[in-house]
Amino acid sequence: MARLSQADLVDLNNTFNERTPQELLAWAKDIFGPRLAAMSSMQRAGNVICHMISGMPKPMSVVFVDTGVLFPETLETRDRLAAEYGLEIRTLKPKQTMQEQTAELGVLYLSAEGQKQCCELRKNEPLDAVRDDYDAFIGSLRRADGGRRGTCPVLSVDTRLNLLRINVLANFSDEDLDRYIAEHKVILNPLHDQGFATIGCNRCTTPVLPTEPKRAGRWRHLGPWSVYCGINPTDMDPERSPAVDFSQDLVDRILGYRTDFVI
Ligand code: SF4
Repeated sequence: MARLSQADLVDLNNTFNERTPQELLAWAKDIFGPRLAAMSSMQRAGNVICHMISGMPKPMSVVFVDTGVLFPETLETRDRLAAEYGLEIRTLKPKQTMQEQTAELGVLYLSAEGQKQCCELRKNEPLDAVRDDYDAFIGSLRRADGGRRGTCPVLSVDTRLNLLRINVLANFSDEDLDRYIAEHKVILNPLHDQGFATIGCNRCTTPVLPTEPKRAGRWRHLGPWSVYCGINPTDMDPERSPAVDFSQDLVDRILGYRTDFVI
């Protein structure tokens, strides 16, 4: 095994800042093949990625975490994307229903500490189940979303899942996103038209006012707009330089030591 650290990715990240999302998707497909998937929570940016990969010769599968307390509109959006874009969407679920969890642990999401535990049980643990199935996930973080995502790199290592996160839309501005959605009539979660800037569980998500930050609708009851669930590692610890374990061959391919692939 070989180690691939966040520091090893600095040069590649600098280069990738100039690449288009489609170029990055093509690079990822070439490097990771069938051990690549996209992650989506059925929001605007994730749906744009679903549209982009649906046009690839062999679309990768999409991993989706259903916490059991999502809005029906989100599940309907997943089903539309699968049917109309021809995507295989792999839905992961927590071990317990919310009812079972509440009976055992109480209503967790009402306190700051409880929220961490609830997100861990309902969002992060389901992903652990597929840890060995993939070497890379396409993510939909954008710097234009601000907050802890304001500096997110294109490539980041995920030590928990031992894989690479590839945020192909890291440089996509709000205008880029709007233009792509309009040009391609991308399927959207209808909740966006009801004032939801971002969309998560029905217990912890509200619409936002036009004057509020986009993330004001997430965990509003816990304020002040600084809570993240932890499903994206760069949201949690932006200062660290972690590493993952890959085969030497895969590390060489990622860093371009043994490939003639040029984008
Ligand atoms: S968003 Fe709220 S309900 Fe959903 S997993 Fe996190 S704390 Fe629980």
